[in-house]
Amino acid sequence: MKRAYNFNAGPSALPEEVLRIAQEELLNFNETGMSVMELSHRSKDFENVHNEAQSLLRQILNIPDTYEILFLQGGASLQFSMIPMNFLSDGQIGNYVLTGAWSEKALKEANILGHTTAIAASTKETNYDRIPELSELRLSPEDAYLHITSNNTIFGTQWKDYPTVKDHLLIADMSSDILSKPLPIDKFAMIYAGAQKNLGPSGVTIVILRKDLLEKTTEKQIPTVLRYGIHSKNNSLYNTPPTFSIYMLNKVLHWVNDQGGIAEIAKANERKASLIYDVIDNSNGFYQGHAQKESRSLMNITFNLANEELNKKFLLEAKEAGFVGLNGHRSIGGCRASTYNAVPYETCKALQQFMLKFKGNL
Ligand SMILES: *Cc1c(COP(=O)(O)O)cnc(C)c1O
Repeated sequence: MKRAYNFNAGPSALPEEVLRIAQEELLNFNETGMSVMELSHRSKDFENVHNEAQSLLRQILNIPDTYEILFLQGGASLQFSMIPMNFLSDGQIGNYVLTGAWSEKALKEANILGHTTAIAASTKETNYDRIPELSELRLSPEDAYLHITSNNTIFGTQWKDYPTVKDHLLIADMSSDILSKPLPIDKFAMIYAGAQKNLGPSGVTIVILRKDLLEKTTEKQIPTVLRYGIHSKNNSLYNTPPTFSIYMLNKVLHWVNDQGGIAEIAKANERKASLIYDVIDNSNGFYQGHAQKESRSLMNITFNLANEELNKKFLLEAKEAGFVGLNGHRSIGGCRASTYNAVPYETCKALQQFMLKFKGNL
């Protein structure tokens, strides 16, 4: 059986080793005589999986004890609502940096809830081809938080340096680049990510949240299941968690350690992305990157050919050659290669060779 050259943007490739272990354990997990999906979420066997996933994530990303790690549901999209619900009081502002479609959506949810919001900076004018300079950010004393999207999955841009905001809480949607490199956790009040890009299958959402912020989130008059404080008090077992997704997350975290940890993963990601960016940069404009160089993402590589016809031809021939998921997002078109952690070097190499061949270099 041949595995596909999978460049899907999300859900996306999972490590083959992880899938094989899941397959082996599917009918009889840990001598329980059942699948992990059939266990009680209150059982010792599941609790071990759950707690180990937390501690592995803490160890791999070097998350201090002053931060809580939560496993929630509803995707990153529910966080767009939970953040303003939990953190904004009257007179306070939710401040957003707009760097693409996901940050626009985050802002939109705060507005739907009737909160006061602001736009700290936006690069919409140039079709989100870059991350703003730190000096471009407009902050105000009323800001309860500053929200950024660390990696813009659709436009292919990524923050390299995170802003330092002394008197504000920095909150980041890291759905598409968490676990791709080491992180300066203490710059952030909160980090969140849907799992289906770098962490595992969809269904679980990771929230890493400073513990001192939990207090006020239990006091607010919002539905119980939408309060961070409640999930923290119950070790993310207030209600039934997405047990299979957490199990898969656990396996993916073990896999990260097997690769040599986060520093090795980061190096591999750089090597993989540069295979493809090098083709773009050395193509004399045959391939044109969407993102400006300093803002380019190591996770989502967005590019166009000279015209729509050529884009189509490229995508069609790529498909015939066994490449999956290279179409750009429906909102911007063109091509996109998502080179998340679990996409092997060999798969990126194959794309590099295909791009060279398509251009006529090979
Ligand atoms: C995929 C993605 C989302 C949406 O996540 P859901 O889990 O589908 O809600 C949000 N933000 C970013 C940056 C993403 O890449």
